[in-house]
Amino acid sequence: MSSLNHFKSFFTFLLLKIKGKEPVRTGQCHQCGQCCRAFRVKSEGKWIKTSKQLDILVKQKPEYSRLIISGESEGCLDFTCSWLTQDGSCKDHENRLSICRAYPGTTRFYTGNKLPEHCGYVIKAAVPFEKVLQKKIRRMTHSN
Ligand code: SF4
Ligand code: SF4
Repeated sequence: MSSLNHFKSFFTFLLLKIKGKEPVRTGQCHQCGQCCRAFRVKSEGKWIKTSKQLDILVKQKPEYSRLIISGESEGCLDFTCSWLTQDGSCKDHENRLSICRAYPGTTRFYTGNKLPEHCGYVIKAAVPFEKVLQKKIRRMTHSN
């Protein structure tokens, strides 16, 4: 990420913090498979850029051997997955990778990393439900 993008992310983070908001994920996965067709993978906090880095990751976490290098963009490797079926579903959804379970992470709101078109999830800035609830409880406690 460039310094300008780092600055933009930090600025967005501060702005939300001031407003008491956070990126909140809503919706659900309808298993269209778009995010499994082209994605990047991080290892030890850094995007994988070489097949050697992928080999190291697979040695550490054999479940990543399902990844297939599909290309390269912006200096990073792009992957698809051998578990992706013709109809766009996962061959074994119950045993999908941990990165698939965590997808889509809310930090993409700061980085401007868009979700695939027609993804069933939406990530937007909102006051998290827990905060709204805490505020409501505090008000009720003080009014008694
Ligand atoms: S793009 Fe969204 S809806 Fe489609 S499989 Fe991925 S997470 Fe699910
Ligand atoms: S393991 Fe399943 S959910 Fe994860 S990328 Fe592969 S096909 Fe998609």
